[in-house]
Amino acid sequence: MNVDFDIAVVGSGFGGSLMAMIARRLGRSVILLERGKHPRFVIGESSTPLANLLLEELARRYELPRLLPLTKWGTWQKVYPHIGCGLKRGFTFYHHQFGQPFAADPERRDQVLVAASPRDEIADTHWYRPDFDHFLVREAQSLGVEYLDQAKLGGVSIGSDSVQVEGEHEGRRFAIRSRFVVDASGPRGFLHRALRLPEASFENFPRTQALYAHFTGVKRWEDLGGVSQKRPGGEPPYPVDDAAVHHIFDGGWIWVLRFNNGVTSAGVAATEETANRLCLAEGAAAWDRVLERLPTLREQFADAKAQFSFLHTPRLSFRSGAVVGPRWALLPSAAGFVDPLLSTGFPLTLLGVGPLYANMNDFPFFAALSLLYFAAASFSEAARRLDRPDLASGFLLHDHPCFGPLLRSCCERASCARENDGLTAAVRNELIDDIFGVIEPVDVAGLSDRSRRNWYPVEARDLLNAAAKLGVRELDIKRALARGGFFPAQDFAAEGAAGASVRCCHGNE
Ligand SMILES: Cc1cc2nc3c(=O)[nH]c(=O)nc-3n(C[C@H](O)[C@H](O)[C@H](O)COP(=O)(O)OP(=O)(O)OC[C@H]3O[C@@H](n4cnc5c(N)ncnc54)[C@H](O)[C@@H]3O)c2cc1C
Repeated sequence: MNVDFDIAVVGSGFGGSLMAMIARRLGRSVILLERGKHPRFVIGESSTPLANLLLEELARRYELPRLLPLTKWGTWQKVYPHIGCGLKRGFTFYHHQFGQPFAADPERRDQVLVAASPRDEIADTHWYRPDFDHFLVREAQSLGVEYLDQAKLGGVSIGSDSVQVEGEHEGRRFAIRSRFVVDASGPRGFLHRALRLPEASFENFPRTQALYAHFTGVKRWEDLGGVSQKRPGGEPPYPVDDAAVHHIFDGGWIWVLRFNNGVTSAGVAATEETANRLCLAEGAAAWDRVLERLPTLREQFADAKAQFSFLHTPRLSFRSGAVVGPRWALLPSAAGFVDPLLSTGFPLTLLGVGPLYANMNDFPFFAALSLLYFAAASFSEAARRLDRPDLASGFLLHDHPCFGPLLRSCCERASCARENDGLTAAVRNELIDDIFGVIEPVDVAGLSDRSRRNWYPVEARDLLNAAAKLGVRELDIKRALARGGFFPAQDFAAEGAAGASVRCCHGNE
């Protein structure tokens, strides 16, 4: 086989398939090359409001209407019930001490719940990637993308007017010539190796490792005896399991993401020091060792079975020293990765993850730091919904003239905490106050309201109160909320949005 295309895309994760579909829509001939075979396991499952907004924008801009239902839980369930998916209403963080059951502090000092949507219908999702990626690759094929799986790629030669990728398929050699190559093969992927690109380091950032698998038989957190009896007063802003659940301990954390097909994705990420202490490289035995130290999680996973051997990633962070060149480019996940904690957004992740890992032993401090992320994410999301992307042009506000430098300064002060053997109580409290001061000018989600005691529901009123921060009128916000399906149809018809009174998500306003 010796064939010509406009574009060759390497790697058929969702990034590669989307890229291939868009290129087809722009009239290019495309080949998509995959070393494995779908359906296959891959990590990276939890979407965010911003991720779904971007997917929606791409689907509309490039006329990919079949992807639109995948941007919200409700439409996904109606249109594609056979594609595995998890309901994600928010971000749940619980703090644990090794050797002790989860305390469930009545003052909620050991938890943070940040809602991302007011109801299931328009909620975010966890993508069950074996199904999700398989669906996208078939969509790409139906748009005319040539797809070759089980392709063992060898070398690449870059000429002045074309690139040649060579490889082997079912024992036969092939060469594909294209005008451009896009690498969507993930960290330390095809072009990084084939072109021997240098690896760049991240300074002041902890080396982290991860150990993970898919499980069946994982109990719901809210059903655990020890937890349900100690529930702090009031209804949480969403069912706590229908979320990206983070269990934080000193030096690391565990994620738990539930899908609607009985499968749960779970894993542990930890600093090198903690990972080595727990011997994460040992796989299943290490997972048991972690659960042994966290009694409430041990109860949650008591009947759980891993669906396949645990996967261990000895080094999560990666950064390629070059990301584009003549006739080639790396997609973001091939260009670099920081850490799954705050996995959306490299600049903010870089700034935020170091201080977060450094302060996992001081949960109130950790909780305040995490609000920097949620403030930037919700402001950016609101700006896009209001057709004002200019307000948040840099990803997650890292280059915002006020928020950017203040964020940096807070993170630097927080990173020093551990190095200097902890902060004094006065300095720490001052820093927490400063963090609330930094987020207030960009807070459109009630995050700086400390009376909420770490539970942050999605309230229309918070966004309306932030109209001036977003440079729009309340009316614009009401219209955007109606467009985004914030209100159930029977309560709020889009046409009536201008005059209708606003109901908050719990219908009590
Ligand atoms: C532990 C962990 C947790 C994460 N959690 C989240 C999360 O909750 N939310 C989130 O948004 N992101 C998360 N991420 C990041 C997420 O995994 C990536 O952003 C996402 O998978 C990128 O998708 P992709 O399609 O670009 O690449 P991938 O999903 O990495 O797909 C790459 C594809 O390329 C193929 N390939 C690789 N090498 C070759 C080759 N030489 N030739 C041909 N094909 C090749 C692979 O088989 C694969 O199919 C997480 C990452 C990690 C490590």
